[in-house]
Amino acid sequence: MTLVAIVGRANVGKSTFFNRIIGKRVAIIDDKPGVTRDRVYGQCTWNECTFSVVDTGGLTFITEDELSNKVYFQMRQAIAEAAVILFFVDVLEGLLDVDKELAGILRRLGKKVIVVVNKVDNAMREQDSYQFYNLGFKEVFFISSIHGRGTGDLLDAVTNELNCTGEEPVNDEIIKVACIGRPNVGKSSLINALLGSKRVIVDQLAGTTRDAIDTNFSYDDQEYCFIDTAGIRKSGKVQESVERYSVMRAKEAIERADVCLIVLDGEAGIIEQDKKIAGLAEKAGCACLFIVNKWDKVFRETQTRHKFKEHVLAEFKFMKYALVHFVSAMTGENVLQIFPLIDQVAGHRATWLKTPVLNQVLQEALARRPAPVHKGLQAKIQYVVQAAIKPPTFFLFVNDPRLVHFSYLRYLENYFRNTFNFAGTPIKFVLKKK
Ligand code: GDP
Ligand code: GDP
Repeated sequence: MTLVAIVGRANVGKSTFFNRIIGKRVAIIDDKPGVTRDRVYGQCTWNECTFSVVDTGGLTFITEDELSNKVYFQMRQAIAEAAVILFFVDVLEGLLDVDKELAGILRRLGKKVIVVVNKVDNAMREQDSYQFYNLGFKEVFFISSIHGRGTGDLLDAVTNELNCTGEEPVNDEIIKVACIGRPNVGKSSLINALLGSKRVIVDQLAGTTRDAIDTNFSYDDQEYCFIDTAGIRKSGKVQESVERYSVMRAKEAIERADVCLIVLDGEAGIIEQDKKIAGLAEKAGCACLFIVNKWDKVFRETQTRHKFKEHVLAEFKFMKYALVHFVSAMTGENVLQIFPLIDQVAGHRATWLKTPVLNQVLQEALARRPAPVHKGLQAKIQYVVQAAIKPPTFFLFVNDPRLVHFSYLRYLENYFRNTFNFAGTPIKFVLKKK
């Protein structure tokens, strides 16, 4: 477990630091206290060590204020998962009672805690920083998140603590999910139904639409990261009214996703824009689930699931491998069954197959239907290896790649699909000259 949690009261500079060290900016900074409310995750690579960082909400969690309690809940969850805790304090404000209280809570967890005195923008302020040793933790670092002063030393200390070995992203087992679809199909409703109201703070006051906000969520021991939930989670979204913007936003989410939930409106049916969005997901190599929403509105005597599913597969001809699932985000019907489906397609997308098995199947396929002769020349497909996962990618070694027609590759793909279980994921064949 290599998760680093950033905790501390509001306005000490947690988001500023977070944004500085992670590759891509996903948190939100604002001068108003308490703008960063949900847990925001990012990845940081330092000294060839990649670890996850979570920026916790930081309102004055000691008060009885309801929202603050929710933030406190988020914070506790993040802390429970963390290997190292960066406890942020503010040299300009000095040592406050809230800090001392939080120190007490953190100490009882028995985890590695590093005190980070922030806003030490110059050497003069270092003198004011020693008071924070009184918090009782051994390691205290003085940094300036804005200028970067001291942040390298801090990250050295963090990576030392983590004992990183490889460059593998550590939270690889987290499945990244994008919920996409044209406006009004029910994406927001679905996300809310999936995440449940407890774990996500839905607050109209928060200025959370300006940036992509990802929401981490676990269900049945599996961790998920729902990509760009900020815009999606709100009802009455302004940006969704501009059609082009919504496609653009979907594109960005798809780029980062393992699994795309392509939401369709079961009542309104399928239109051209649905196909465009699905096409993007398939092209990006995401595993895909078609979620037919608003099924509560459909008159089921005449419109059966079976019929609608046929309709979906006929409309999305290029994605015959995709799964189709029927839900009502409004009533919650079948919504939670989406989680095991996500696991399933994400698993298929990460399948490695051994070379001997692959070649046995290739030989069978070739024997059943030999590669056609093209201009008097016969393509000789010699062997196959799997070169990558996510999505599964196979190299086919041939005497001359130009001799293998697209339709023959289609045949091979279907043959592989009939033998191995790749439901829900695209697979790729790449011709290589032997
Ligand atoms: P959070 O609520 O703990 O996430 O705090 P923010 O990152 O939103 O920062 C709160 C305020 O402190 C913002 O106005 C930042 O610009 C400011 N701030 C953050 N880091 C520093 C720093 O190193 N030096 C100074 N002078 N200001 C900082
Ligand atoms: P988005 O634009 O894709 O995020 O769609 P919304 O989640 O904002 O939903 C658009 C409209 O469809 C809202 O009026 C929802 O109440 C309604 N809606 C969403 N899901 C369902 C559903 O499962 N059944 C019904 N009957 N209405 C739904």
